[in-house]
Amino acid sequence: MSRPIFASISTAALKHNLKQARHYAPQAKIMAVVKANAYGHGLLAAASALAEADGFGVVELDEAIALREAGIRQTILLLSGFFSAAELLLISEYRLSIVIHCQEQLESFLCSGLPVRTDIFLKMNTGMNRLGFAPSEFLAAAQRLLDSGQAGNITFMTHFACAEEPGGIDEASTLFFKTIGDKNFSKSLANSAALIRYPETHCDWVRPGIILYGASPFQEESAVQLGLLPVMSLQSEIIAIQNVLAGGTVGYGKSFTAEKPMRIGIAACGYADGYPRHAPSGTPIAVSGQRTTTVGRVAMDMLCVDLTGLDSTDVGSKVTLWGEDISVDEVARAASTVSYELLCALARRVKVIVT
Ligand SMILES: *Cc1c(COP(=O)(O)O)cnc(C)c1O
Repeated sequence: MSRPIFASISTAALKHNLKQARHYAPQAKIMAVVKANAYGHGLLAAASALAEADGFGVVELDEAIALREAGIRQTILLLSGFFSAAELLLISEYRLSIVIHCQEQLESFLCSGLPVRTDIFLKMNTGMNRLGFAPSEFLAAAQRLLDSGQAGNITFMTHFACAEEPGGIDEASTLFFKTIGDKNFSKSLANSAALIRYPETHCDWVRPGIILYGASPFQEESAVQLGLLPVMSLQSEIIAIQNVLAGGTVGYGKSFTAEKPMRIGIAACGYADGYPRHAPSGTPIAVSGQRTTTVGRVAMDMLCVDLTGLDSTDVGSKVTLWGEDISVDEVARAASTVSYELLCALARRVKVIVT
């Protein structure tokens, strides 16, 4: 038998979460964000499960082309636009939509002389200070696009820095709406957090990512409370058991010392599988469906689990790193990171099974 680690991806959960996104934003079109290999879930499998979405958002041209070649007919948006003018011919050939977020990109697009009109999402910087035109330059950029005759549909967009915090978007959305005034353009503002918390930002296109994968964008509300189902379940097995005496240590650096006799299980999952090395002793994990915690340092191929007092666990017992019994959000919290990072980091050596 091969090494017993795999990630199962639930098509049914993806479909459910997309329905849930529609339930929160019934009037808007949904741009399913499938960048970064669909947050680690597998681009084509995820996109095919999300076939009811109105569009797909990616960051790399290769991902956009792969979606088109797989038969996706909906809008496909390059969320950072293009990185070199050489990409523009393919963008046109594959009928992709692009973000234009800065003057250099705008000039480059206007000089391209593409044979067909391209749909543009023109991005405003409303305080993230990452991508986007300053509000003072935004309408002039829009006018130049209009005058050029090279743009198809133009959508005004922005991206929030703080949508997961109460009141976190107030300034940004006020600035956005004030800047565009009564101009009659399509609009796109909301990521997952804003989609759930701020209906006033739904407008024409919402852009959910993380909720489609069944994780919560909020600290205080769990995915279960939001009506979401986990999509990825990272599973392994116990491959060895050690009985450690009081005073014995576990793992590299002897960072964990047993205060009483302990039964320690060794699970075939480590940081080379994408499990966070900085997850401390005490990170939640499940063995045979029972919750317990990790012990000691996460190694490249293995981590250790407290099996003391856990019924019917043995070599071969099923380990859930995250998924049904243990949410990816609680593992992320324990490891001082966010679910996004854990999901995206799933390593190539982990077999993916789509169910
Ligand atoms: C990644 C991304 C999203 C999705 O964000 P979530 O928090 O995962 O919903 C939306 N819009 C843009 C521009 C993005 O880059």
